[in-house]
Amino acid sequence: MSIVIAIDGPAGTGKSTVARAVAAKLGLEYFDTGATYRVAALHCLREGINLNNTDDVAAMVSTMNVEMRLDPANPVVVLDDEDVSRLLHTDTISLIVSDVATNLAARAVLGDMQRRVIAASRKGAGIVAEGRDITSVIAPEAEVRVLLTADDEVRVARRAGDGADPVTVREAVLGRDRKDATVVEFHTAADGVVQIDTTDLTIDEVVLAVVRLAEA
Ligand code: C5P
Repeated sequence: MSIVIAIDGPAGTGKSTVARAVAAKLGLEYFDTGATYRVAALHCLREGINLNNTDDVAAMVSTMNVEMRLDPANPVVVLDDEDVSRLLHTDTISLIVSDVATNLAARAVLGDMQRRVIAASRKGAGIVAEGRDITSVIAPEAEVRVLLTADDEVRVARRAGDGADPVTVREAVLGRDRKDATVVEFHTAADGVVQIDTTDLTIDEVVLAVVRLAEA
């Protein structure tokens, strides 16, 4: 029997760290769906596509050659035979990724890709898939569905780390949220989704809470 664990939430809730740790603990695959949007943004940037041209972006996304490797110990994104994993979390990509995510045609293509990855995991032990709309749109049938939230200021502080300019980080995190929220709901739990407020919790506590849901 396989299990699909869907974890949604905005940036700075600990979503990726928690999802990876849960996958490793339970022997499941790990799927960062945000990386599919990020690699699409990188591909468009490299191909010189104007991100405001929705048709060109959608065409570029539907023909891109991407492979997602789903080992939680070493998740890798391959674009045209090149490991681009380390290029996906730059400020440049974070600033433009919402332009791809709010393009509904591109969203449909990437959503289909995500559904295929999740369906394939059913042949094995299963998967932890994290994103913004996995609990509600991509895998509403998942056995475990969790929405992670945290106070805005705490999310910004977590992202700011040492030395980063807090004003810039604030705008990057909350500005991206505002744009993403025009096409996907990720602040409120859909019916049947368990909401965990991580504001005052450690990563270990959140991991334990999700593992308990999976084992219940
Ligand atoms: O999770 P991460 O911050 O890497 O996601 C990057 C971007 O991908 C988000 O800001 C959002 O625009 C998009 N995204 C999405 N739906 C998902 C996952 C990510 O629209 N399921």
